[in-house]
Amino acid sequence: MKIYLVGGAVRDQLLGLPIQEKDWVVVGATVNEMLQQGFRQVGKDFPVFLHPKTHEEYALARVERKIGKGYTGFDFDASSSVTLEDDLLRRDLTINAMALSAEGELIDPFHGKEDLENKILRHVSKAFVEDPVRILRIARFAARFSQFGFTVAPETMSLMKEMVNAGEVDALVAERVWKEWEKALNEKNPEKFFEVLFECGALQVLFPAIQLNENLMKASSVISDPEMQFALSLFGVSLVDITSICDRYRVPTIFRELAILLTTFYPVYIKITEYPAEYLLDFLQKTDSFRRDVRFKKFLKMCEIIAAVYSQPQSTAFIMQAFEAAKISYLEADLKGLTGKQIGELIYQKRLNAIKALSFYHQ
Ligand code: ATP
Ligand code: MG
Repeated sequence: MKIYLVGGAVRDQLLGLPIQEKDWVVVGATVNEMLQQGFRQVGKDFPVFLHPKTHEEYALARVERKIGKGYTGFDFDASSSVTLEDDLLRRDLTINAMALSAEGELIDPFHGKEDLENKILRHVSKAFVEDPVRILRIARFAARFSQFGFTVAPETMSLMKEMVNAGEVDALVAERVWKEWEKALNEKNPEKFFEVLFECGALQVLFPAIQLNENLMKASSVISDPEMQFALSLFGVSLVDITSICDRYRVPTIFRELAILLTTFYPVYIKITEYPAEYLLDFLQKTDSFRRDVRFKKFLKMCEIIAAVYSQPQSTAFIMQAFEAAKISYLEADLKGLTGKQIGELIYQKRLNAIKALSFYHQ
């Protein structure tokens, strides 16, 4: 048997990036031979093993054949006669289809190194169309590598358009969409994920309510927080549509909450200085600012970005002044003998007085 380093580790090494995880391919071995060597089988769908010591993934070289719609409809052959080139051929991008032997020889039948140098995301073969997840993966790699100047090859983009037109994107399951979307939110340029999906037509199928806003996308690129990236990308979408997108893709609450908070309260943010103190306190309470100040500060940061894009009022300094003033502390003794309702009223009055005392209200 022969073992090769493959996929992302080879790519990242050539790019001079830190290697996240190592994936290995084993050629010329059987499942039994692997088990005899102490590997532990983990793959449900195809033979993948964990190394007894390093716990890195070792997969038997395999070829895949599409036998049905969607991406569950795959058959595979992982017999010991499958070659390394056969295995590389089933991969999505040329830059992901290189292998490195133990002797340090690069095996690169699809010119991935050249595409890496020319910064091109290019599919390996026509079999690309067999798995719609690849559309999401390309969009995600664009989000990761556009900082280095990578773009999608025109012929790959054409293929992605064909897949969308053939209805392949309809077969994507919600979990896979969210998984790739979430990864993209953690990349350097998450906005590229939507840009690529828009260009091939997948955005219109997967997220029909989302309209791309180039200025806002550009302004958001200074943010490196995935939850904020999520909320900003949904800004401009109605609350009803945000909810249905989050339901459809089973988006975790932490993302959902921030997007809803931003869309609900941005209109208040830009008007807040025109309203009386009672209204400001109401705003601080409804955004749960006192208990969830980290989230509240994320909200304010996003409002600043949006207000800058649309040339609308910046209210953060004013809001923070009120927030700090109203963040009152009180002694246990003050609350002695009071009911829950009375405590609530007491705190409300103290906060309101603190806000009303701000010089802003005495001009
Ligand atoms: P990352 O740095 O995000 O881990 P990666 O390229 O290693 O990037 P993985 O998801 O770990 O991506 O997959 C490992 C390799 O398996 C890829 O480099 C690619 O060659 C292949 N691969 C993964 N998913 C697919 C797919 N849906 N279609 C074709 N090839 C795939
Ligand atoms: Mg990987």
